[in-house]
Amino acid sequence: MNKIMNLFSLEGKVAVVTGANTGLGQGISVALAAAGAHVFGVARRSCAETLEKVNEVDGKFTEVIADLSDLSAIDIIMNEVHKSVDRIDILVNNAGVIKREDAINVSEAEWDLVVDLNEKMVFFLSQAVAKQWIEDKKGGKIINIASMLGFQGGIRVPAYTASKSAVMGITKALANEWAQFGINVNAIAPGYMATNNTTQLRNDQDRNEGILERIPAGRWGTPEDMYGAAIFLASEASAYMNGYTVAVDGGWLAR
Ligand code: NAD
Repeated sequence: MNKIMNLFSLEGKVAVVTGANTGLGQGISVALAAAGAHVFGVARRSCAETLEKVNEVDGKFTEVIADLSDLSAIDIIMNEVHKSVDRIDILVNNAGVIKREDAINVSEAEWDLVVDLNEKMVFFLSQAVAKQWIEDKKGGKIINIASMLGFQGGIRVPAYTASKSAVMGITKALANEWAQFGINVNAIAPGYMATNNTTQLRNDQDRNEGILERIPAGRWGTPEDMYGAAIFLASEASAYMNGYTVAVDGGWLAR
């Protein structure tokens, strides 16, 4: 490999990716594994499809089953990962949930479900991983998955907007405290991507047309569109990036 490209290599690194069984988490898992990392994919249900895709790129993938709606999942993840490796180098906080409802009708239970997973878990899982990095004096990489709704308000998704705005805030707050320990905390804000998260939108002809018309690239994004930014933020190539949210949005925010 050209020497400069070594900057992007993840050879010998260990990555934890949450929500790895499908969608963007699956794409990120494939990308990091193809770049050389051993990926531990966390999900509530089987990651068999992700394992198959990682095998196709000759990567290494281990599934960890955990429900991230409760903080007790953190110990499960740490114990499972440490059964086979002694450290984590990269954490991707990707798991997330969206609930569509008029703001006037949102219940407390719905609010908590979204905020606990999208915001609270992101903070505490990052804290657990960073504790080890600070103790070991070795640093690491955290990539949070934000959203266009950290920049904009959205429609009928107030808890999601609140949680994704918080993800961008947490990314900056943690970067400010942890950059001194060699920990890079950054985020990727995907635009409108064709995954389960957006099935309802894509099935609504008016919304689908309205969204497509506004995307300069003229198409929905795909899990493969996450590859480049994920590898960049997980690798040495982004060593001097701290607290930034990179949009992968086909130009949505440029409009
Ligand atoms: P998705 O619904 O396909 O994936 C969500 C992932 O989160 C799945 O792997 C799911 O298993 C996991 N998850 C949900 N609840 C969980 C729980 N309690 N415990 C463990 N895992 C849980 O959608 P996606 O688009 O791939 O979403 C991935 C991330 O990208 C999310 O954070 C989402 O908010 C964000 N995002 C998506 C889009 C988009 O347009 N698709 C845009 C911006 C941001």
